[in-house]
Amino acid sequence: MGTAAEGTPLWQNWSGTERADPARTVRPASTAELAEAVAAAAADGLRVKAVGAGHSFSGIAVPDGVRVDMGGLDQVVSVEQRTGVVTVEAGMPLWRLNQVLDAHGLALENMGDIDRQTISGAISTGTHGTGDRYRGFSWQVKGLLVVLADGLTVRCTEFERPELFAAARLGLGALGVIAEVTLQCVPAFRLKAVERPERLETVLGGLDELVAENDHFEFYWFPHTERTLTKRNNRYAMSEPSRAPGRLSYWWSEGFTENTLFEASNRVGARFPRMVPRLNRLAGRVWSAREYTDVSHKVFASPRSVRFREMEYAMPREALPGVLRDLRAMVDRERHLVSFPVEVRFAAADDIWLSTAQGRRTAYVAVHQYHRHEHEAYFRDCAAIFDAADGRPHWGKMHALDAEELGKRYEHFDDFLAVRDEVDPDRRFANPYLDRVLGA
Ligand SMILES: Cc1cc2nc3c(=O)[nH]c(=O)nc-3n(C[C@H](O)[C@H](O)[C@H](O)COP(=O)(O)OP(=O)(O)OC[C@H]3O[C@@H](n4cnc5c(N)ncnc54)[C@H](O)[C@@H]3O)c2cc1C
Repeated sequence: MGTAAEGTPLWQNWSGTERADPARTVRPASTAELAEAVAAAAADGLRVKAVGAGHSFSGIAVPDGVRVDMGGLDQVVSVEQRTGVVTVEAGMPLWRLNQVLDAHGLALENMGDIDRQTISGAISTGTHGTGDRYRGFSWQVKGLLVVLADGLTVRCTEFERPELFAAARLGLGALGVIAEVTLQCVPAFRLKAVERPERLETVLGGLDELVAENDHFEFYWFPHTERTLTKRNNRYAMSEPSRAPGRLSYWWSEGFTENTLFEASNRVGARFPRMVPRLNRLAGRVWSAREYTDVSHKVFASPRSVRFREMEYAMPREALPGVLRDLRAMVDRERHLVSFPVEVRFAAADDIWLSTAQGRRTAYVAVHQYHRHEHEAYFRDCAAIFDAADGRPHWGKMHALDAEELGKRYEHFDDFLAVRDEVDPDRRFANPYLDRVLGA
């Protein structure tokens, strides 16, 4: 049972960049309990923060008053197999959502690299995958049930409270606590994955074809080298035979190479920083070519056990080659030692108010640093390049921008703030990160 106080455990996010000591933690098991918890917080003058899987790198999920642990709200509400419209409680993790969808011959249209996030956490920060014709999680949202600051529970869709819907489908946790999410899913499909090393200049030279000819194209560039690992994932019907990697091959690539060996290499790099370029050349060779076909989510998502820090910006697609060349020159010039590959992904334009892909065909560039390496100077220099390209930072990843700067980069920023003023005038759902990026 949920809404009673359950002590004040210290909280920290996945990457260890954020910590909090909330006044209390509640774990509601129904929408009614969630609404009671919000009303009780208001009565006690405490702020409220819904927390999903804590996988945001930024301070967006940091709770200072009441931490609402969404783990108790993880059930299926309804599945319409014929239309693909599925409603689940907001705390359902993506890996379980995929199991539910599998059982009904359905799938998420697109996914990012992992499946540990909750559905409400994923939509609230604009989580995305890759694909020039595809969009992020929030695009699939058709309706929300939200508990507002006054404790009232309201439903919103494109037709019912459309302004609240436009804001809350990618709402940064700033407007209320989402209790249920309704998603438009697609028929289950397979992905055929082709992964291979290629030279950076070859990839940049052929980018238009690569993103146009593949449903989901992305690549990783290993700093200090010319090497990239490209990933082409293409969609097939479920009648396509599965050629899933065998257990040994799966263990070798996703378990050993991308996690155990990568962790060991990063530890060596942290101890002996001058070895990083050589280790990157080695990683570029070890992350080798492979091909396999499997049900979509098993190809999209993989385990990630090596801890890291991440910053990711969305920029106009045409800016990408210049941004990567600048990045490369900057890393050499400033002598940063970067042991993690830079990840490059793509998305179609969308019309969601605070979406990083709003109104423009987008390329995403994500920079990472191992958690034992210093990341500040490298991220600061990367941000200067992304800012110059009119970049928009991922809401759930590290960045230093504030409301004044972000307001210039989003056409609907003021529309979002107007909805926030209307539904949360007392800033019940604020925290220091939201004070910075939206204003107090
Ligand atoms: C290893 C790793 C890989 C990642 N890969 C990708 C990727 O491929 N693509 C990508 O775009 N991002 C990626 N991310 C970022 C991640 O998807 C986002 O930060 C996401 O928001 C995390 O979801 P969560 O459930 O952990 O949410 P949290 O981090 O717990 O919360 C995020 C935000 O959602 C709000 N929230 C949560 N639940 C609710 C609710 N019920 N109602 C209202 N607000 C709510 C919180 O208040 C907070 O504002 C990755 C992160 C990690 C650590």
